[in-house]
Amino acid sequence: MIVMSASKYTYYIYTIQVCAHSHIRGLGLDDALEPRQVSQGMVGQLAARRAAGVILEMIKEGKIAGRAVLIAGQPGTGKTAIAMGMAQALGMDTPFTAIAGSEIFSLEMSKTEALTQAFRRSIGVRIKEETEIIEGEVVEIQIDRPATGTGAKVGKLTLKTTEMETIYDLGTKMIECLTKEKVQAGDVITIDKATGKITKLGRSFTRARDYDAMGAQTKFVQCPDGELQKRKEVVHTVTLHEIDVINSRTQGFLALFSGDTGEIKSEVREQINAKVAEWREEGKAEIIPGVIQNCVEGLIFYLSFNRIRGTNYQSPHGIPIDLLDRLLIISTSPYNEKETKQILKIRCEEEDVEMSDDAYTVLTRIGLETSLRYSIQLITAANLVCRKRKGTEVQVEDIKRVYSLFLDESRSTQYMKEYQDAFMFNEMSECCTNKV
Ligand code: ATP
Repeated sequence: MIVMSASKYTYYIYTIQVCAHSHIRGLGLDDALEPRQVSQGMVGQLAARRAAGVILEMIKEGKIAGRAVLIAGQPGTGKTAIAMGMAQALGMDTPFTAIAGSEIFSLEMSKTEALTQAFRRSIGVRIKEETEIIEGEVVEIQIDRPATGTGAKVGKLTLKTTEMETIYDLGTKMIECLTKEKVQAGDVITIDKATGKITKLGRSFTRARDYDAMGAQTKFVQCPDGELQKRKEVVHTVTLHEIDVINSRTQGFLALFSGDTGEIKSEVREQINAKVAEWREEGKAEIIPGVIQNCVEGLIFYLSFNRIRGTNYQSPHGIPIDLLDRLLIISTSPYNEKETKQILKIRCEEEDVEMSDDAYTVLTRIGLETSLRYSIQLITAANLVCRKRKGTEVQVEDIKRVYSLFLDESRSTQYMKEYQDAFMFNEMSECCTNKV
């Protein structure tokens, strides 16, 4: 978020990092791709979420290549939230790139370069490294074909290797579990080597993030015919852009932290493309499913179009009609009172803010009369005011206070109209020139 303040002679810009969509964990759809009213941080907007679910399926089936999606609707109706939900639904390591027009029009690099970087930031490469199994780590064992008589289905078992000595032990114990303890593929178990006791911990972890949450890395051990191979992979996910930067700057990955990546030579990109293609051939790397197929196609790329500035084009969504004709368009609609309140509640939970029912009602009214985004922004500020008065729950008075401190868009416009003389910059006085 950028906060700006301006008067006739001074102009300040502060930037504050706020993750406005941290509560979004997916599209909130059931197995039949039907949206639940409230799920995975998503509220309402059922038609748009249903349509987004169809797009997800197209991506998973590799049928999105050559198409683009436009999410259109009034400000604050969840367009970014839905795009984010789609990326989340495709897996935690699915890169999500959101760029604003101003980034493309930067003076530091050409528009083509800015767009190329944005595209390559949106392409993930999952790189696999083989390692030895270390005792005490969590591994996932995949059974390609179970040993005869185990009755186990083909699938995955996850075991904690805490008490395991060798990979052979692990395999033997696994077969024992399958036969004696009615452990099913997908169960997570630990085995005490001394006693042989098996404890079921729950169902299988299927995603890298679940392992990460346990402080472990994802490792797969193939088990054809019930025999374990001594193979284990550590998986890193990076974007093509990160690989480009690391290989094109003398300071390598440090440039990624500073953001000062500059322009990248096309030869470097060609080399990286060739290398990644080689890794794919050798089975060492894969392009993250759902994000891209064939390296340059099938990309989910979220662009926010507002209008075609500086032209007289009259076109819906500010997009030339021939481009519009090639897009799949999902539309979003404004929220009702119940949905607005629900979104505000989810945001409060996300930000660990306690709020009284009356305060929710007032904030909801503000959201409906101004904008959802404005009311969401008041949550943090009201909580701060509440804490200052040593309160534990945000009350109506806190909401009122921040509402009077920070203007919404229409009150700000009104203010500008009243004091427009103070904001006219068309005369360059000496004082002003010196400041610049
Ligand atoms: P703009 O056109 O101004 O860019 P937008 O349509 O992209 O707006 P968002 O930024 O997605 O709107 O929404 C504003 C805020 O409301 C965000 O914090 C977003 O996460 C939240 N939000 C919007 N819709 C939903 C929803 N259906 N469920 C949960 N949160 C939502």
